[in-house]
Amino acid sequence: MSRSAGRHFLQIPGPTNVPDRVLRAIDFPTMDHRGPEFAELGKSVLAGMKRVFKAPKGEVVIYPASGTGAWEAALVNTLSAGDLVVMAETGHFATLWKKLARRLGLEVEFLPGDWRHGADPDAIEKRLRADSEKRIKAVCVVHNETSTGVVSRIPEVRKAIDATGHPALFMVDTISSLASIDYRHDEWGADVTVAGSQKGLMLPPGLSFNCASQKALAASKSARLPRSYWAWDEMLANGKTGYFPYTPATNLLYGLREALKMLEEEGLDAVFARHQRHAEATRRAVRAWGLEVLALDAREFSGSLTAVLTPAGHDADRVRKTILEAFDMSLGTGLGKLAGKVFRIGHLGDFNDLALMGTLAGVEMGLALAGVPVKKEGVQAAMAYLAECRAAPARAAA
Ligand SMILES: *Cc1c(COP(=O)(O)O)cnc(C)c1O
Repeated sequence: MSRSAGRHFLQIPGPTNVPDRVLRAIDFPTMDHRGPEFAELGKSVLAGMKRVFKAPKGEVVIYPASGTGAWEAALVNTLSAGDLVVMAETGHFATLWKKLARRLGLEVEFLPGDWRHGADPDAIEKRLRADSEKRIKAVCVVHNETSTGVVSRIPEVRKAIDATGHPALFMVDTISSLASIDYRHDEWGADVTVAGSQKGLMLPPGLSFNCASQKALAASKSARLPRSYWAWDEMLANGKTGYFPYTPATNLLYGLREALKMLEEEGLDAVFARHQRHAEATRRAVRAWGLEVLALDAREFSGSLTAVLTPAGHDADRVRKTILEAFDMSLGTGLGKLAGKVFRIGHLGDFNDLALMGTLAGVEMGLALAGVPVKKEGVQAAMAYLAECRAAPARAAA
């Protein structure tokens, strides 16, 4: 392969572009993870993650693992073989979490969805009401479904659970929403929140997280699924002093400390607003091209990514291939039943207005090159919106 000059555009919805500051922070000699210096690092990243989860009453565990490991950890720490779990079919990632749960020996009921909407609070309420024997032990929802660009309304799901008085645990996957889309572990009453390093947290892949409520910690005392590597008890006991029971991903923790600093310098609210602004600009571009956004409900549009439907007869993967070859930009592929039908534009993580404009310009040119009939007005529409946001921030956000 010949060299492409300039920086590759990594516009998949994770892994995301790793900022130079984080790369520099990782590029330091690995320290003794039992030595005196390490405790400060461990304590600072655990405290920082609690702030990002908005979980002053919760406990955070950090694994040297991809997000899938933290999915497994959430289940094995709180449940027992044969337990009934209700999961919402929001898309490909919800389907993978369901498959993982079944492989662990859980009984999973998958509430059907059309992959264009988030979890349905009414359907969850109805299912819990019907469970008079209280057999359901957990309700699991993917907050931002990365395969579709649809955000489930977590506070409404919580309200639906509360309306029934059902004691089931509430587990939420925030792997592609944490530090990109507003999320509040304590206030929204999540029992286990799952997260990963390589999306909104702007790190390379390799770290994942559980944030557990006191109710989840209590459930872990009687949960009987086998666990050792994922067990919370030793992680939490060690974490109190800033250490880990086994070798942590030390250099990624250097990167996490820097990423947390960057998020706090910008301010989480500003980070969320930036993601919303880029998402809205992207949707305006898509509509101006004459294409369709996969998400149907405006309350559920994702700040992290936008999935775009290509017209019938136009393979979305061919568009992606054309864009990669012509402009050295990676876009997300259609996953599961969306294969060939959508491409996904990631606009999360370390990102700004001009990087978005470069991304949308690449998509607009690539669509034309691939022979997809579009109006060449998307870039203009996005640019006009971004300019409007700068001129009158409050009006543009309204
Ligand atoms: C990326 C992602 C996962 C999978 O995480 P891995 O790091 O690939 O194991 C799970 N859920 C969601 C919502 C994701 O975006």
